[in-house]
Amino acid sequence: MNLESMITANEALQRLREGNQRFVAGMRSIDSLVKQMQREDFIERHSPFAIILGCSDSRVPAEIIFDQGLGDLFVIRVAGNVVAPSQIGSVEFAVQQFCTPLVVVLGHSRCGAVMATLEEIERPSDENSSNVLSIVSRIRPSVELLLETDLRNDPGQLLKAAIRANILASTNNLRHGSQMLEQLLLDGRLTIIAAEYSLETGVVEFITDI
Ligand SMILES: [Zn+2]
Repeated sequence: MNLESMITANEALQRLREGNQRFVAGMRSIDSLVKQMQREDFIERHSPFAIILGCSDSRVPAEIIFDQGLGDLFVIRVAGNVVAPSQIGSVEFAVQQFCTPLVVVLGHSRCGAVMATLEEIERPSDENSSNVLSIVSRIRPSVELLLETDLRNDPGQLLKAAIRANILASTNNLRHGSQMLEQLLLDGRLTIIAAEYSLETGVVEFITDI
């Protein structure tokens, strides 16, 4: 536990917001550049101020889109930002080790994993491995509901809604993912919020409140 460097969830969110604003403006903070040259300082300890559970998509690297440096973020990336036991365990680990106050579940526009899930529902294929299907099956429940609405006639809007629904489902799954996380949330020692990154603008929109 690294209590002396603990910041609040609000302060952590503010750092992420400001970092994303720099990224959108095409700037990098001196701080993240300096940290890169101070690699040795992080050999024995680190105290990341936020946990990011995001998609593996190469266009959404958390450290870059939030303009953060070495030791700043504890990042878990998995296709479709799904929440399976190993992701929950990673969040528990980080919260226990570093008292990190904020988790951001980060999805993004044009997410290939969500597209693949829509494709699988509409045209089931036997080409996907059981491992890929384990990701699709976690995205599927929130996406399937949308196909029962008028959105099924509008592929563009359907994809947008499916991406948003998947982010919110992952956030909910993480919030109720373990007794430990539920208790930390109840005690106000942890905050889990949802966000969506736009490939088009570079902006991260925080879609749930602290
Ligand atoms: Zn994705």
